[in-house]
Amino acid sequence: MILLNIPETGKIVLEFSYLLAAILFVIGLKFQSHPHTARKGNLWAAAGMLLAMITTLFLHKDEAGNAISTTNAIIVVATIIGGSILGSVIARKVKMTAMPELVSFFNASGGAASALVALIEYSKNPDSAILVTLLGLVIGSVAFSGSMIAYGKLAGKVGDIFSKVMTYINLVFLAGIIIIIVLVISGGQTADIKQYLVYGLLALSLIYGVSFVMPIGGADMPVVISLLNSFTGIAAAMAGFIYGNEAMKLGGILVGAAGTLLTLLMCKAMNRSLINVIIGSFGGGGASSDQVAGAIKEVSLSDASVLLSYSQKVVIIPGYGLAVAQAQHICHELESLLEANGVEVKYGIHPVAGRMPGHMNVLLAEADVPYEKLVEMDDINADIANTDVVVVIGANDVVNPAALNDPGSPIYGMPIIHAHEAKNIIVMKRGMGKGYAAIENFLFYDDKTRMLFGNAKDSLQKLVTEIKAM
Ligand code: NDP
Repeated sequence: MILLNIPETGKIVLEFSYLLAAILFVIGLKFQSHPHTARKGNLWAAAGMLLAMITTLFLHKDEAGNAISTTNAIIVVATIIGGSILGSVIARKVKMTAMPELVSFFNASGGAASALVALIEYSKNPDSAILVTLLGLVIGSVAFSGSMIAYGKLAGKVGDIFSKVMTYINLVFLAGIIIIIVLVISGGQTADIKQYLVYGLLALSLIYGVSFVMPIGGADMPVVISLLNSFTGIAAAMAGFIYGNEAMKLGGILVGAAGTLLTLLMCKAMNRSLINVIIGSFGGGGASSDQVAGAIKEVSLSDASVLLSYSQKVVIIPGYGLAVAQAQHICHELESLLEANGVEVKYGIHPVAGRMPGHMNVLLAEADVPYEKLVEMDDINADIANTDVVVVIGANDVVNPAALNDPGSPIYGMPIIHAHEAKNIIVMKRGMGKGYAAIENFLFYDDKTRMLFGNAKDSLQKLVTEIKAM
């Protein structure tokens, strides 16, 4: 009887636990699709991962039927505990504004882990699942080095290096990678030469990850970040195929699929094709005009309060500066106050505002802004001309009209929120600092624009106090 056969029962329980883990991953992903349930989603997916790790530790047997050795078990448990402590300390300590960098760093770690699995397994067993192993090595390495460059760019430590030559160099690297894979698979070389070729493949893939992300400019970064995320998932799935481990395969496929879907959604939102992002950068080849016409005009707190209080329709356009200032709670207070005074207030959400996909949604959900108030770019644009005041809070590139009418601008072609079409524009920022794309913003010099300089949190607090006193 099957239940009395302990090794067989262990295998069945193990496979069943993987199925259960996969179901928990899917439920977790479903919850993560809404900011209110995202935290719960993380916990469900983590529970699935914990279940898969524990059952693997106790029930997995190698081909010879041996369970994991005590030494290896101790190493695995120590690594899990050490990694969990380190991860939770870093996640607790990191500032909200540094979260996008942390996500890139974690992504890089996932890619590196998958590449190492492929490298070690190739050395141990060069003839098994060779194509999957080499692909896991390449994709994992590209995800690792590419994510490290993305990390540097998000932290402002690495600049864009764009030249058309890079496109050709990248194509040469890609061709080199394909040639090495074909050479290793086609056989004919000695085992030693193949091993050197595999080391060469590792080095070339790491270099390609750097040179692939290096030229990608401001407006394309969000697409690349989600693409790298999907690479990490695919590399993990490859590692799952190498080990024949269903939980790893399913987990990797889910991350890869979610990342790919996000990449496609980002491309659609930015009117870009994936090939365009990978091969070229935004903007035309002409000279960008940084010579602005018009003058900067400021607004006093009392004038801004009167303008807002006597409006019928107000649209708030949040950007990265709102996250830097951590002004989401006071922003919600201003919106509630205006609504209580009979003003209709909505938020215009640009798909790449902030520094990570969904950044503004998460930030505003944290402050309990009702989700229905967050209106996507295309829908809000249809209504901006009828808006009395747009309040741009810490946003810059996502409202820069150069994207529409300056063919020489590096962000030319990127869709923006049409703040310039509103009847009045109030811009809250600390000074004349540029945005992520490091270019001048014509909106700030528009006749209808008034600047309210200062840290967004302080300015919003003063506005709220002023409106309450009116
Ligand atoms: P930007 O980076 O274009 O502009 C942010 C503005 O906020 C700055 O001009 C700055 O001006 C202001 N600011 C900073 N701190 C404060 C503060 N404490 N109080 C008030 N204002 C402040 O942000 P956007 O959201 O408009 O655009 C996002 C950009 O980031 C796009 O170019 C996008 O492509 C890129 N990006 C987005 C990613 C994503 O996934 N969402 C990922 C990677 C890049 P000042 O210094 O004068 O205050």
